[in-house]
Amino acid sequence: MNCSACKRSLSAYNDGDLSPRESLLVSGHLAACAECSAYSSRLADVDAALANLSEIQPAAGFTAAVMSKIASLPAPERPRRSLWWLPALMLTEWLILAVLNAAHVLHWQRPLAVTAAFAADFSIAAQTLYRLASHFHIGVWAVAGTGAEIAILIPVAMAVRSYVARGGALRGARVS
Ligand SMILES: [Zn+2]
Repeated sequence: MNCSACKRSLSAYNDGDLSPRESLLVSGHLAACAECSAYSSRLADVDAALANLSEIQPAAGFTAAVMSKIASLPAPERPRRSLWWLPALMLTEWLILAVLNAAHVLHWQRPLAVTAAFAADFSIAAQTLYRLASHFHIGVWAVAGTGAEIAILIPVAMAVRSYVARGGALRGARVS
């Protein structure tokens, strides 16, 4: 028997789980090998130390005590974010667009012209598009668009905010 085979068998040897033949081989090697003999005694020390360990038991009601302490903690403060700026921001955007348009910095006709040129490929007269845009009052549609944007975005933003505020698994923990 070599050293590694001996070391592998030591635990079973000490527990008396080896066959008489294997047990004899191990004891023969231990008698002849100082290294394995020292290893065996270290193993016996560890076994003895483990056997002497007393099991640690939590005090009665430990879990309930921890959970009630957590429940009594004040909920973490989250900064309240107001949404007043959202419609203001959108109105400002549209105002800037309107001012730039009025000042002839932006030309809303230009994207229309591009669209018209594109549409011409589909046999739609550019003039018809322009007349349609004038007829349906682009400005009115812009205002209506802003209103719709606000009407949709604010409930969505508020829903997201309340969803985020409800997060946090430990918040409001209760002892069952
Ligand atoms: Zn050995």
